[in-house]
Amino acid sequence: MRIRINGTHFPLETLGPGRRLGVWFQGCPLACAGCMSRHTWAPEGGRESSVRELLDLWREALDKGAQGLTVSGGEPLEQAPALAEFLAGAALLRGAHERAGGVAHGTRADFLVYTGYEEEEWDPPRTRALRHADAVVAGRFRVAEPTALVWRGSANQRLLPRTALGRIRYAPHLRRRATGPAVQVVVEAGRKPGAAPVAHLLGVPARGELGFYERWLAERGLRLKGRSWRP
Ligand code: SF4
Repeated sequence: MRIRINGTHFPLETLGPGRRLGVWFQGCPLACAGCMSRHTWAPEGGRESSVRELLDLWREALDKGAQGLTVSGGEPLEQAPALAEFLAGAALLRGAHERAGGVAHGTRADFLVYTGYEEEEWDPPRTRALRHADAVVAGRFRVAEPTALVWRGSANQRLLPRTALGRIRYAPHLRRRATGPAVQVVVEAGRKPGAAPVAHLLGVPARGELGFYERWLAERGLRLKGRSWRP
């Protein structure tokens, strides 16, 4: 099945516990004021991929000791059938990996999905897409409601464990405040010859932190031409 994504990264260490594979879906109609990921809004942006390609990445990540998979966006539930197929395939690979004796650090890899849709907005296709999610961070980003809670961008967003694994893995984090770096900086060469490099800020920055990273990158000779958090 085809799937539109903005990008992937391993190891991701700022959206969920441990070292994870991050997959960012492309396309979001919710247009939250203050969203730091405006580059993921256009449904025709990013690049076309396939569930098969993402499952290959997940298999490689498991072989490298991945402790989880985080799906964010954009809005993953805008591509609910593809998300459902991807997570079902990822669960099968996780099981096969465990049967082969490859459980990372003695704990099962978990699946965390970010969605701007509140639980009440999950229609049957969206609910089916989240069947294999061990935990979900749900709710619009509200710029006027800051929070220090780890992995959440605003105080209204809820971290919802949905499976036995999710309840165990996320119980210590439900009320935990963020400590340590909330953002991981990844600089990638331009995708076309001669194109400028792209800096990705992965994670949920605290208020004011984006300006800090702009200055941090400038000190290292990277002056930002466009910023995904500005119109
Ligand atoms: S914060 Fe999330 S849900 Fe809101 S517009 Fe941005 S990508 Fe969409």
